[in-house]
Amino acid sequence: MVSTTTSKSGFNGLPIVLNFNLDDTTPGTIAHYWLRLGSDGMGNPMLVPLMVARGMEPGPILGLTAAIHGDELNGISVIQRLFADLDVAELKGTVVAIPVVNIPGFNRQQRFFSDGSDINHLMPGKIDGNASQVYAYRLVNRFLKFVDHLLDLHTASRGRINSYYVRADMSQESTRKLALLQNPQLIVHNPANDGTFRGTADEMNIPAITLEVGNPGVYQKKLIRSGLVGVHNVLSHLGMTDDEILQVPIPTILCKKSYWLYTETGGLLHVHVDLLQRVKKGELIASLRNVFGDLTQEYHAPEDGVVIGKSTSPVNMSGGRILHLGIE
Ligand SMILES: [Zn+2]
Repeated sequence: MVSTTTSKSGFNGLPIVLNFNLDDTTPGTIAHYWLRLGSDGMGNPMLVPLMVARGMEPGPILGLTAAIHGDELNGISVIQRLFADLDVAELKGTVVAIPVVNIPGFNRQQRFFSDGSDINHLMPGKIDGNASQVYAYRLVNRFLKFVDHLLDLHTASRGRINSYYVRADMSQESTRKLALLQNPQLIVHNPANDGTFRGTADEMNIPAITLEVGNPGVYQKKLIRSGLVGVHNVLSHLGMTDDEILQVPIPTILCKKSYWLYTETGGLLHVHVDLLQRVKKGELIASLRNVFGDLTQEYHAPEDGVVIGKSTSPVNMSGGRILHLGIE
């Protein structure tokens, strides 16, 4: 059965589709497509990779997305390994994934879209908006609206490192459960903000969480494995597989909120604390030196907390990020 949305011509031997359509994929198979989101200045189509694993039996549609920020790579490997592992003969329902969402950013190895926008802050986009808004709008309307649950995979941004943590609305049972199944080092309770892909999913009543899987621009094997276990746990929880749910013995740190601390002046920053380290109110967390090497500022923890992420790049302008503090 071929959907009317499938273009007759393909690219690299794979069909081009205008939206995700379950009926394009035969039950019990895995299929790859190019999802068309627009065209570039040459008039060539802008194609995102779309992977569909459709089980023999009907069931939920689990959506996975990675690299909505173009330099966040660990999630790509999580999705690729998941599809290599999936047994569609036993699967109930469908897993549908876009391993690289932000094509211009990915090609330039940078966070932002080609017009400099952060597309994860302008969701659900605009049907007649600018380049990034249209791309966002089509992503929502050609992919997101067809899924029942969403896991959106991210990492820290450049110049910073993250623990393996989850952002989720812990006041809603559906998203709370998805978050706990990841066995993350840390969970930040974070009601979905407007403008994010997760927030848009939430407005469409699609339970969604954000997985922050480590650092940008690299593949981190251990964290990729942790991410993969989390996704398998979700498949089992949703009744899509019969696998056992794996829980790790390390307890997850739960944070009711989190915020970034920023420098007031520019200079060369050294952060003294490690990821997941607990800090006490008043504890020295970072020092700033001027270009001559003189100590110009010391930063102290404003309250007790735990380090979720931190800056690793010494060069800081006024308003540079120091660390991401979680409050338990
Ligand atoms: Zn991101």
